[in-house]
Amino acid sequence: MNLESGLFPRKTDDVLHGPMTMGEVPESHPRYASLMSRQRLVDAMKEGLLADSALIAHGRGEAFDYLLGEQTTAGATAAITEVAARLLIAKQPVISVNGNTVALACDELLQIADTLRCPLEVNIYYRTPERMAGLLGRIEERATALHLNHVEILGANPNGRIPGLDGPRANCCQEGILGADVVLVPLEDGDRCEALVAMGKQVFVIDLNPLSRTAKTATICIVDEVQRTTSALLSRLNNPKDSDPHFDAAASRRAVLEVMLEALERD
Ligand code: ATP
Ligand code: MG
Repeated sequence: MNLESGLFPRKTDDVLHGPMTMGEVPESHPRYASLMSRQRLVDAMKEGLLADSALIAHGRGEAFDYLLGEQTTAGATAAITEVAARLLIAKQPVISVNGNTVALACDELLQIADTLRCPLEVNIYYRTPERMAGLLGRIEERATALHLNHVEILGANPNGRIPGLDGPRANCCQEGILGADVVLVPLEDGDRCEALVAMGKQVFVIDLNPLSRTAKTATICIVDEVQRTTSALLSRLNNPKDSDPHFDAAASRRAVLEVMLEALERD
């Protein structure tokens, strides 16, 4: 990734040169955004920020995104609007991030945290000291580049546990996830999503798989790609609509599933 700009690497960036890279990808390439996301993840993997299974998880997400034509659908847009409204009226919101999320949408999530004046907490499934330090370092680096050093970054010193989960994946911060009423957790695991909902929190997730346990158990699942969603969410936070307490999360999820089913039937 271009650490200067935090933007997608351009063909002039070093990252796209040399025998270990994809080679030059012109911006006119129809799969440019997808290829750049892959490059970001490959870079993050080499930097030790990701778990071994991270690329597999991304690949499965890509398959669903292919069925969406790599576009945000109306069902997802409705969910983004409602999530924005609820984040703005939350008492103690928090954004929980993992390795893939940091690799793909760190800047947007820092800007969202700034808008909401809420902390960002690193909370990873496969917690190792090296990965935690690497992710915290990356987020701090981007916060500095964006002049957002005032955004609180949590996760280094967990002082609480999510009830009902075993092992290090339960570790979290009282002043972050544990004490929050609303958690935006872009890419979450089904188990932890269930556990957070069981604690009485509103849990907002982003997951391209409308059939996952995460998608089905979250308070609201935005069935869309994480970078597109975080950009759209940031815009909506700056131009919000009123919250609808009767928002039908299942209907929004199913509306996106319908678009995928239509794609399968079209050919
Ligand atoms: P669950 O944990 O909910 O039961 P799972 O175990 O099948 O589901 P995970 O391995 O926890 O899934 O997470 C991988 C999922 O993350 C993918 O199937 C995909 O839907 C989602 N995903 C991966 N990359 C992205 C992305 N860039 N944007 C949105 N969603 C993504
Ligand atoms: Mg899972």
